[in-house]
Amino acid sequence: MTTDPPDAASATVLLSAGAAETVTGSCHLLRTPDTRILIDCGMFQGPPELERRNREPFPFDPAEVQAVLVTHAHLDHVGRLPKLVADGFAGPVLAAPGTRTIAEIILRDAAKIAREDRARALRKARRAGREDEVEPLPYEEEDVDRALEAFRTVSYDETVEVAGLKVRFRPAGHVIGSAWLEIDDGSGTLIASGDLGNRESILHPTPDRPQEARAVLCEATYGDRTHRSREATRAELREVLAEAAEAGGRVLIPTFALERTQTVLYEIARLQRSGEIPELPVFLDSPMATRMTAAYREHLDRFRPEVRDLADDGIDPFAPPRFETTVSSDESRALNDLDEPAIVLAGSGMMTGGRIVHHLKHHIWKPETHLIVVGYQASGTLGRALVDGAQRVRLVGDEIAVRGKIHTIGGLSAHADRDDLTAWLADVGDAAVHLVHGEPDALVAFRDHLRERGRTAQVVKDGEPLEV
Ligand code: ZN
Repeated sequence: MTTDPPDAASATVLLSAGAAETVTGSCHLLRTPDTRILIDCGMFQGPPELERRNREPFPFDPAEVQAVLVTHAHLDHVGRLPKLVADGFAGPVLAAPGTRTIAEIILRDAAKIAREDRARALRKARRAGREDEVEPLPYEEEDVDRALEAFRTVSYDETVEVAGLKVRFRPAGHVIGSAWLEIDDGSGTLIASGDLGNRESILHPTPDRPQEARAVLCEATYGDRTHRSREATRAELREVLAEAAEAGGRVLIPTFALERTQTVLYEIARLQRSGEIPELPVFLDSPMATRMTAAYREHLDRFRPEVRDLADDGIDPFAPPRFETTVSSDESRALNDLDEPAIVLAGSGMMTGGRIVHHLKHHIWKPETHLIVVGYQASGTLGRALVDGAQRVRLVGDEIAVRGKIHTIGGLSAHADRDDLTAWLADVGDAAVHLVHGEPDALVAFRDHLRERGRTAQVVKDGEPLEV
């Protein structure tokens, strides 16, 4: 299969093999006559027809790719690295500080889930005599090891030479280790946004601003909406936590292990230390989120000044005054018998599995329970059903009445909104903007928004080579 357009001899060409007209699967090949560099190599996540793409061959030869530049460690940006290695890639994976540590947690967890899913499918198929219909895993654990060994950490703002291109990782304020990329191909600057942070982030500084460029590959996850202010979100969370503490029951917060857990822990700790909410005990009931939080503690210098100041004073920003982490499942189960009010954070974030499901089973039927939803709930998930007002739900085999109070805090997004993206792009001069990483409606809305402001903007098509 060839990816060369007719005039590829002199041009720099971009080919998207994921996150084009969809949010997940970020994977963009940048090729010049002499180089092939990949920007991210993420997993598709969502309905089965999309996830099937994780098994398909890449639309380029992985053995010819000289290096991968990883913008950050979310699964939809790193999840296909082991497959890339299994399919022949043998170069380095470059990323900003912190990304490798987080990628290790994310990739090992994803590999474990894939193995468990396959074992379950095999058991089911065996009963029907159809084992041969169960597909093999797209990669083995040793491919995860090799992908992790390939990581090279690059300092922020340092210019590194990658296959003849000059590359800089610039702070993106999205999660720890996140970067947008500046790539000089000898005739100008190309910029890849990765995922840009929310200027109203509680933990991260605003992303660094770009400068004039020839072309920008830009995300548009929230290109069609605007977020609430940091202060409004904080006030909302404070009111809900105060009300929940007053009720005297269990406060359950389903969280994603990376970023949302640390943001919520930081905010609870701050509110409790300042006496704005009662000092209830706080349990982090997620081994994965506990490991992520440890990774966050290794990079305290990257956070907003008020977070760094705490660390300078010897205070752990992510540890409320009465804080415990529960690792074993026995410790987790013991929380059910605790007979004092407490706050419990557990995964999964959309309540589709994990320890939060057990906590819901034990507590959501009690009127004094408060469930605080702090992240996006996709349609079809248990979390979405609860947010939409389900009266009864099925939890670990039992039908349970929903009598607890459910709150949704909407402002904790780790993503730039339309205004953030527009402001960030204001500095790139006349650069053509190529939009990726968004649902079709968001991409088209943001493209039109940019065009109304006189910009050249287009939505990137999957698999269509694009001269940049
Ligand atoms: Zn991300």
